Amino acid sequence: MQQTKVLKFGGSSLADAAQFRKVAAIIRAEPERRYVVASAPGKRFPEDIKVTDMLYDCFDLAARKENIDEAFAKIEARYNGIVTDLGLDMDLTPEFRKIRMAIEHHAGKDYVASRGEYLNSLILARYLGFAFIDAEAGIFFNDDGTFDDKHTYKALSALLAEADYAVVPGFYGSMPNGTIKTFSRGGSDVTGAIVARAADAVLYENWTDVSGMLMADPRLVEHPRVIEEITYRELRELAYMGATVMHEEAIFPVREACIPINIRNTNAPEDPGTMIVPNSETAPATVITGVAGRKGFSSITIEKDRMNTEVGFGRKVLSVLEDFGVSFEHIPTGIDTMSVVVATASIAGCKEALIGRIFRDANADSVTIDDNMALIAIVGRGMVSNKGTAGRVFTAIADQDINIRMIDQGSGENNIIVGVNERDYDAALQAIYREFVRED
Ligand code: ADP
Ligand code: ASP
Ligand code: MG
Repeated sequence: MQQTKVLKFGGSSLADAAQFRKVAAIIRAEPERRYVVASAPGKRFPEDIKVTDMLYDCFDLAARKENIDEAFAKIEARYNGIVTDLGLDMDLTPEFRKIRMAIEHHAGKDYVASRGEYLNSLILARYLGFAFIDAEAGIFFNDDGTFDDKHTYKALSALLAEADYAVVPGFYGSMPNGTIKTFSRGGSDVTGAIVARAADAVLYENWTDVSGMLMADPRLVEHPRVIEEITYRELRELAYMGATVMHEEAIFPVREACIPINIRNTNAPEDPGTMIVPNSETAPATVITGVAGRKGFSSITIEKDRMNTEVGFGRKVLSVLEDFGVSFEHIPTGIDTMSVVVATASIAGCKEALIGRIFRDANADSVTIDDNMALIAIVGRGMVSNKGTAGRVFTAIADQDINIRMIDQGSGENNIIVGVNERDYDAALQAIYREFVRED
């Protein structure tokens, strides 16, 4: 049987007709490129607005009972522009009418957002002459909003088997009651992985606007090196910590089936990009594979004399967090102190109550919360066999006169996390990159 490759194209890859042409050329270059997952039109230039954001805007206007005419007309214009420039004989008026009515009648937010990928996929399917398979009929969630893998793979595999070549819209699926639900932002990457798994693909190609996973965010480091090969585990750590080129959930469906991912650049299809593999045999070119980070963390510091000898102290603190529905990122501890690092957004509105409860339940001497922390993850499978990596990280940061607020090393020894003040974030990340990537 012919092998199958699944391709996902991001928003900037499908932002206008010129991009659609590049995408079609890429797909047509190999007959194995059979199933295509499409995002909504993204930015054509830096100040442009993604269609997904325009749809959220329409939803908000309707929720405030304001007129959506102007906002919706702009969305129609984006799609009509693509259809006309591609010379397609396609009239989206009935689709627009339906969506518009739904927004005015207060359809769910996820339904509204999902129409971005729905419409773009209709156009792409027509342009390529491929079948259109609606994600609504093939991707399912459970009542609690988690992904329903069994139902999905059964239904989606059957739908794919009926079409040799097809386009599937990214980002959304159906709830058990039939309403539309989306993944979190950037979720078309997840759809692509699910389709790759359902199609039993040999490769999942993720086409975007950079030539692969870069060793650092290109918005912070000038021309960072491309990572040639990275393991699922390393990718997940970097993606989770902010290397947003790939959604952090996207590796799960393909990892189970050992399907490699190839991140590629729609604007430079000749570049080999990054291969994401289950296990890497090749030693990385540098000790670290990559560095990524995020702002917006808080550290809750609890002090209590002789805390280390008190059995169950940690549990008391963590069960308070559990009661408040807060998940934690890291728990660095001292002899008489324990810090719990959490996302600031997750404790907004309940800080005082949280402090009071920890104080009481854990019988603490003091409880304080400090905001404005950024976390930086230094990730690399090469770190295990290289002594002194942590020392190099700390020295690089200290040389910039930056204070380290937290240190955590993953037990697998393939990541080091440091916490710094948000204002020092850019400089710290740049210093770490420079330390490990010296220009030859
Ligand atoms: P798409 O719309 O194709 O899904 P995204 O905007 O979601 O694309 O992801 C690609 C962007 O991710 C790049 O343009 C880049 O600005 C950003 N990015 C952040 N960190 C990294 C990194 N380590 N490697 C590559 N890109 C990164
Ligand atoms: N269009 C959606 C977003 O902007 C999903 C995606 O692009 O992956 O988040
Ligand atoms: Mg993306």
